[in-house]
Amino acid sequence: MSTIQHLINGDLVTSGDRTAEVFNPSTGAATGRVQLADTATVQRAIDAAKAAFPAWRRTPAAKRAQVMFRFKQLLEQNEDKIAQLISEEHGKTLEDAAGELKRGIENVEFACAAPEILKGEYSRNVGPNIDGWSDFQPLGVVAGITPFNFPAMVPLWMYPLAIVCGNCFILKPSERDPSSTLYIAQLLQEAGLPPGVMNVVHGDKVAVDALIEAPEVKAISFVGSTPIAEYIYKEGAARGKRVQALGGAKNHAVLMPDADLDNAVSALMGAAYGSCGERCMAISVAVCVGDQIADALVARLTPQIKALKIGAGTSCGLDMGPLVTAQHRDKVRGYVDDGVQAGAQLVVDGRGLSVSGHEEGFFLGGCLFDRVTPQMRIYKEEIFGPVLCIVRVDSLEEAMQLINDHEYGNGTCIFTRDGEAARLFCDEIEVGMVGVNVPLPVPVAYHSFGGWKRSLFGDLHAYGPDGVRFYTRRKAITQRWPQRASHEASQFAFPSL
Ligand code: NAD
Repeated sequence: MSTIQHLINGDLVTSGDRTAEVFNPSTGAATGRVQLADTATVQRAIDAAKAAFPAWRRTPAAKRAQVMFRFKQLLEQNEDKIAQLISEEHGKTLEDAAGELKRGIENVEFACAAPEILKGEYSRNVGPNIDGWSDFQPLGVVAGITPFNFPAMVPLWMYPLAIVCGNCFILKPSERDPSSTLYIAQLLQEAGLPPGVMNVVHGDKVAVDALIEAPEVKAISFVGSTPIAEYIYKEGAARGKRVQALGGAKNHAVLMPDADLDNAVSALMGAAYGSCGERCMAISVAVCVGDQIADALVARLTPQIKALKIGAGTSCGLDMGPLVTAQHRDKVRGYVDDGVQAGAQLVVDGRGLSVSGHEEGFFLGGCLFDRVTPQMRIYKEEIFGPVLCIVRVDSLEEAMQLINDHEYGNGTCIFTRDGEAARLFCDEIEVGMVGVNVPLPVPVAYHSFGGWKRSLFGDLHAYGPDGVRFYTRRKAITQRWPQRASHEASQFAFPSL
């Protein structure tokens, strides 16, 4: 059984007796123990980051970017190993794991542009012999706290950009699947990052609270469930920190009567059941405008859901692996029981699934509910499993009202051939990321990612241009070099041109 250690100041270290089991969800077997940091260990990481900061912030941006170029190369060279590590602890298929790594690498590529993105803004002659400019300066020690569902991609949303902006970083990954995250951080070290600039501390609430309470930590990026996002935002902001806290989701796809059904069905299959529905951008509600499209959708989805290829994530050619832990599988199954009790029509029931040779794995088959109503728990709450709910409405306006009334506002999409409907939807929907005939509208790395309402606490979205703003603070400098012959008299009125 492996021991998963912290990475502090370039070294792998242990912290003590507190550990947690890590499982292979496909077999149900415990495969490792991850160290859970105490406050002293977190402080060690903070001290290392603080000590590394003065030299790192003075390192030219182009040199910082060179580390990221080497990092990108190492990530690509080790893609198979990383995908294997992800799949063994998360359970997602190897293809899906490789996909998340590719999306993560996009963020490293964006960070390679550090000299360009940190150029600042310059104005010559803002007054007589006066030039003015804005610098983007690093904050110092910053931290990231990440969820289990993207152990490679979500951390890569954060630290490559934070680091090229001149900060030193402490990452607290999910304790449920920490190995790939740690391995990737070691590759960054191998790429030539000075010790202390990037640190990884594993742990639970104890480690998170230590990061929140430390005055040296100037900013926290969080991605995870809404209750924890809200907690971290409130506690961090109360201590004067900059916080961006991305939370949970309930993503609706609207199917208009004129939708291209073939396209919509194949898009929905991937978006609802890919990664077992454990994606913050997964589509978990299909809102059908009219009974005709709803009936057609149910008829098309049913055989495809029943035919999903489900097995150990590390086997090839599968659609879905297991859920991450036995507790999470039981929680999702509990939602399915609840939906049945509440009167929703369970068209496909995945609860009885057993995968031959993997009977102890945390599997659940794809489930489809029809005639779900907004009062039901399966509609209101995030299930985070392979469960798609169909809600039937009479008009686009009703569909939009439903979405706008939901507490979450992460992602949504509309399937239609009607440009007018799509335009209205994009304009009026209260959701941060919108797709038109695109089910998972995850922005590319040079845009920014974030939801609205209770899917995000804070002002700035993750990565891209907002990420640069989040990990830097502006300094506006106004400089005057008087010409020798022109000494000006004192001016007592407020300076103006
Ligand atoms: P989680 O909230 O349980 O855990 C996220 C992080 O918070 C982990 O590092 C965990 O150790 C830490 N944590 C857990 N409980 C804590 C507590 N009481 N105090 C302090 N820290 C605590 O989330 P998860 O189950 O790992 O991930 C799934 C959730 O993340 C879903 O709700 C999903 O929608 C969300 N998510 C959101 C996005 C997004 O971009 N909005 C992306 C991915 C995942």
